[in-house]
Amino acid sequence: MARILLNKSHLFHNLQLIESKIKDKNKIAVVLKDNAYGHGIVEIGTLCKEYGVRNAVVHSVAEAEKIVTLFDNILILADKQPPSYSHTFHMTINCINDIELMQKNTKVQLKVDTGMHRNGVAIEELEEAILGIYNKGLILSGVFTHHKSADELSSVFFWQKNNFKKVKKEVIKICEKLFLPIPIFHSSNSSATFRDNSFDDDWVRVGIALYGYLDTNPIFGIPKLKPVLSLYVNKLSSRKLLKNQCIGYGGTYTAQEDMDVSTYDTGYGHGFLRLNERKKFFTPEGYEVLGRVSMDNLSLNTTKDEICLFNNAWPLAKAHDTITYEIITSLKPDIPREITS
Ligand SMILES: *Cc1c(COP(=O)(O)O)cnc(C)c1O
Repeated sequence: MARILLNKSHLFHNLQLIESKIKDKNKIAVVLKDNAYGHGIVEIGTLCKEYGVRNAVVHSVAEAEKIVTLFDNILILADKQPPSYSHTFHMTINCINDIELMQKNTKVQLKVDTGMHRNGVAIEELEEAILGIYNKGLILSGVFTHHKSADELSSVFFWQKNNFKKVKKEVIKICEKLFLPIPIFHSSNSSATFRDNSFDDDWVRVGIALYGYLDTNPIFGIPKLKPVLSLYVNKLSSRKLLKNQCIGYGGTYTAQEDMDVSTYDTGYGHGFLRLNERKKFFTPEGYEVLGRVSMDNLSLNTTKDEICLFNNAWPLAKAHDTITYEIITSLKPDIPREITS
């Protein structure tokens, strides 16, 4: 049976780097959406609580319910179903129409579009939105935005940061006028957290850095993060592949000489993306994935019983011409997770 190992000391190392950058543990909000980027939401949530993290960010109410006992605050980014009252949940208002859907006394955080143009109300709609939230009897606990290019070498990041500064000023003005408490403010994802040297928000929302990656322009100086996840696979059968015999679908790998090969119990059905003949991949111990990856099987040039298929998503992201996010979030939730120290 394949299994995923989660390295606790690597996770804590990454959290320490994040904490030392923003100088306050209470300002960390760990992004645990999409099953904690494929790692396992309950496992990672439990470890983050042990570290002392108090805030989390997820995609849906269903995800939030899995970790409700672990955090003081859980921001739900994208769910239009109003939850039953929770002290812990904060629902995102992604557009003015969302306000009507929420029940009285629900805590909400208002997302503002400062230039990404994906979600959020426009800066010009701030007053209308806050008044709507107030009239509906909702509790405005936060105002936030999202950067579109914190990882890229351009001035867009600073332009958005400046727009958010204006948002803060405007929100404070409106709240003072209405005698409302000032909400918390946040804007930084992982790249922005490590790039920004003038941090003055109340939270950072760190996802990918927590798991040990940062797909950012190297010019910003990449912090020494450590990948948390590794995937171990187990042998199903071994055989001798004779010179000129081919292996797997399409027979795209041909033995140059007699060799020992084995099949392992994992494939693209478990979220290990399908490699083909144009993409070579070697395990950390140097074994080669031979030919195409099948749904539940892949072949390696070894007869060992258990193999670490990968312990760093970066070379796989390169092989697949994608980003580390996609490699790790693809891993299916039914692979057993184990925590190692
Ligand atoms: C996913 C997400 C994040 C985390 O981004 P990383 O690049 O993984 O740190 C932060 N904020 C929002 C709104 C997100 O959707």
